[in-house]
Amino acid sequence: MEQTILQSFDLEELKALMVSLGEKPFRAKQIYEWLHQKLVCEVDEMTNLPASLREKLKTAYVVRPVTTVDCLSSKLDGTKKFLFKLYDGAVIESVLMKYHYGNSVCISSQVGCRMGCRFCASTIGGLERNLETGEMLSQIYEIERMTGERVSHVVVMGSGEPLDNYDNFLKFVRMLSDENGQNLSQRNITASTCGLVERIRDLAKEKLQITLAISLHAPNDEKRKALMPVANKYTIAEIIEACRYYEEMTGRRITFEYSLVKGQNDSAQDAKELAGVLRGLNCHVNLIPVNPIKERSFEATEGPDAAHFQFLLEKNHINATIRRRLGADIDAACGQLRRRYLETEKEGST
Ligand code: SAH
Repeated sequence: MEQTILQSFDLEELKALMVSLGEKPFRAKQIYEWLHQKLVCEVDEMTNLPASLREKLKTAYVVRPVTTVDCLSSKLDGTKKFLFKLYDGAVIESVLMKYHYGNSVCISSQVGCRMGCRFCASTIGGLERNLETGEMLSQIYEIERMTGERVSHVVVMGSGEPLDNYDNFLKFVRMLSDENGQNLSQRNITASTCGLVERIRDLAKEKLQITLAISLHAPNDEKRKALMPVANKYTIAEIIEACRYYEEMTGRRITFEYSLVKGQNDSAQDAKELAGVLRGLNCHVNLIPVNPIKERSFEATEGPDAAHFQFLLEKNHINATIRRRLGADIDAACGQLRRRYLETEKEGST
């Protein structure tokens, strides 16, 4: 019998489910609290439900959609990387990072990815499938259970393109910030996109308070196309226009991510051109020296050169920071741990 993930139901859907099972609607709120506040992973832990309802739930529903296969801890900064198995055997990864302001979790939104960015390990095997809302939420819950720590910030920057899994992603934001669940402030949620223009506009209309991060990585379309196939579909000008709309609708400052790749997008001319592109937008640039993956030959821009790039942006009135590299000793770059795991599994079976 096919199983359904109970964490993917929002409160209204759970109420409808209760009615369809011949139960009282108030049971929905009880179940929702067990799943999204108390973070139980067994139906029998829901002790205020009648045994008959628990039996019904046990036969048809999954309540632990994500289980830990491996966890690596950085000795440098306490970053923890989790490798999770999903109920159908797929594997994904999430990262817990400790900052002075709290604990931040980076989650995946898809198994694999179909966007094809050249420097990214997550996209090498293509897209396997979308993650359900309950699978996105459960990455956070599993980390809270495993570490006993409360998560205060969430970034959707792991494997996958969240706006390519739009409906599940939107529901994820709503449920994560629902007062009946984790009640996480939307201001503490960041979603990163390679720039799917129509979806950015759709998201703007939702008037959420989340931070939108755009993976720009180049100052012009030609250079962007060399790094990101999605640049063949949308121009930088279209993306910037959609960002202005997002800012107008939500009042939120936009973040731009810019992976510095030696000799490709890190010259003084690139910095000046980038500043020109972003002029007049309420934004911040996150510079990330590219994390080299073994499948490709990209090299990172070196420290002093990255600092000079930042200096040039700031001189041209664009806020910029160089992202501190966390978990350097545990393969924390997007999709690298998962790839390593999949490769060893393959070797093991041949
Ligand atoms: N699909 C979304 C979110 C996932 S990737 C997006 O494109 O934004 C999260 C961020 O990590 C993106 O900015 C992506 O370009 C960047 N990234 C992926 N692999 C990287 C690597 N090897 N080095 C540096 N940044 C990388």
